Amino acid sequence: MTKVQTVKINNKYAAKMKKGYPLIEKGAIEQPKLLKREGELLRLVDEKGDFIGIGYYGVQNKGLGWIISRRPDERVDTAFFARKIQTALSHRQKLFNDPETTAFRVVNGEGDGLGGVTIDFYGGYYLIQWYSKGIYSFKEPLLAALGQVAEYKGIYQKKRFKEKGQYLEEDDFVMGERGSFPIIVKENGVRFAIYLNDGAMTGVFLDQREVRKAIRERYSEGADMLNMFSYTGAFSVNAALGGANLTTSVDVANRSLPKTIEQFAVNGMDYEQQEIIVDDVFQYFKYAARKKRTFDLVVLDPPSFAKTKKRTFSAAKDYTGLLKETIAITKDQGVIVASTNCSAFGMKKFKRFIQDACKETKTNFNILEEYSLPEDFRTIRAFPEGDYLKVVFLRVKK
Ligand code: SAH
Repeated sequence: MTKVQTVKINNKYAAKMKKGYPLIEKGAIEQPKLLKREGELLRLVDEKGDFIGIGYYGVQNKGLGWIISRRPDERVDTAFFARKIQTALSHRQKLFNDPETTAFRVVNGEGDGLGGVTIDFYGGYYLIQWYSKGIYSFKEPLLAALGQVAEYKGIYQKKRFKEKGQYLEEDDFVMGERGSFPIIVKENGVRFAIYLNDGAMTGVFLDQREVRKAIRERYSEGADMLNMFSYTGAFSVNAALGGANLTTSVDVANRSLPKTIEQFAVNGMDYEQQEIIVDDVFQYFKYAARKKRTFDLVVLDPPSFAKTKKRTFSAAKDYTGLLKETIAITKDQGVIVASTNCSAFGMKKFKRFIQDACKETKTNFNILEEYSLPEDFRTIRAFPEGDYLKVVFLRVKK
């Protein structure tokens, strides 16, 4: 087992870390030079030497690692990971027992006491995502633990950290039997085609499950629906199943066209009855305005950052502008589903973007519903920035 190094935490950070804050922030460590090898275990103490927690060194944008135990005598071995994963699995029992939903998150990083790693369940397969070289160094005991406590057909992984300065493309298969992709999973009865071996994304973002259900059940009947930044069209498929008159999906990536066709097809729908457009949303706003096309329901779910040939988009800076363009092509009494996964701001600021956009376009609005992460994306109160998802349904009155 790895040797545990004792590391001092600055007073400024120690108090909140003692109260449960799990992230080892960049400024927290008095002598960062003592950290040598990612994956090494750290016994964190305050300036007086009082114990704070056991953490590991693993570099992410967010910080230098995570506290993974509050017990001074913790042994970080297979049994340790097995206990963590077992507890995490028990919190998802309801989902495991739901035959209509076969894809969900089972370990949500620090929300389940294991900052730096997530594990998702996809119809019998598990997908592990490693967010640092440090946590990846625990691959062996963590995999052994998952094998002990979970039944699986196969296990896949994605490394979400750079090696030799870049993200390496490799075979993501780890153990068990290989899937034959796409595998078809269900979410509240809706089907999705999933690829666990095809780049960074799998075909669906699991954190939007409740939002997709709300759209299907309460907002789609008879609607002309527009899905901006549509990726594989998961929102469009739900709107169509909910009785939308027409769905229009817009995404700049070429892959979005075949991917969206596939998601309609696996749900037994004729994609030719839907509109799937490969274009920059900012071009599409102009096009729709010129053609005087308006919509009853618009879903707006941009990435936090995006770079196209023409411009860079940042949710923190550009969301208000995006909403103003959306309001312009939304019908009176129409509904906008404003969504963001940007962790740089919270719900309060997000609502301010909505208010500003409505004010600047002289539009009245009322909020119908709000969503944050679903239960399987467990978060802890001590780390509110882990609850990154913000979704607001608003009705606009022109
Ligand atoms: N709403 C999607 C997820 C969006 S992921 C869902 O529910 O599954 C972000 C997507 O935005 C990516 O597919 C990317 O290709 C697309 N994108 C980024 N910049 C864009 C732009 N300027 N115009 C259109 N699509 C863009």
